[in-house]
Order: sequence, then structure tokens, then C-alpha cells
Amino acid sequence: MKDDESLNGMYSIESNCKYCGWEIINLNLTVEQIKVIQNLVSQNRKLHAVKKMMDDFGINHVDSKGIVSHLNKDFGICHRCSFDKLKHEYIECPKCKSFNYNLKPDI
Ligand SMILES: [Zn+2]
Ligand SMILES: [Zn+2]
Repeated sequence: MKDDESLNGMYSIESNCKYCGWEIINLNLTVEQIKVIQNLVSQNRKLHAVKKMMDDFGINHVDSKGIVSHLNKDFGICHRCSFDKLKHEYIECPKCKSFNYNLKPDI
């Protein structure tokens, strides 16, 4: 008997954003790196966030753009339609079907 199953973090994501079809990417970043990106996004500096991910974290341009455009600024609030009751991380907005990372502000 072999047990090859391993748990890769809490979330297994094998789906797409139902709004735009983007294939959801699991964030393989440290807490510190995520904080930096979240900060930039919350200051409406998304382009800067994309550049940071490419230059400092080695993520390609397409992926960086996709990730940043699915990061919501404030926990619980959809980045697209501003629905404000997103309850947990890695969630699909029940209103507009957009995927939100919805990362908790601090750890
Ligand atoms: Zn999307
Ligand atoms: Zn929404």
C-alpha cells in the first residue's frame, strides 16, 4: 500500500474564476511577501504590485496581473462588485461570481 497523497496547504484549487475564466493560482508567497502586495493593492497601486511580483518574487507577467486583479483591497469586500460579505479566504463572490483571494489582513 502506498500513500502518495500529500496536503499542499489548506486549499486545493483546481478551478477558474467564474466571472472571467482566469485559472486561479495558489499563492506561493511568504506572509511577508503577501503583506507587501496587499499593501500596494490597498493603496490602489496595482501596477506597482504587479511589477514587484515580477521583479522581486519571480512570477511571470501574466500570472502577476491575474493574481493582482483578483486581490480584493479590503477583507470581505469583492474587488469587482463591492459585495461586502465574503466570509473566508479563496472565495467566489456569490453576487458577481468573481474569484477573490480575500486574504485576512494580518496574521
Ligand atoms: Zn476573474
Ligand atoms: Zn462580486
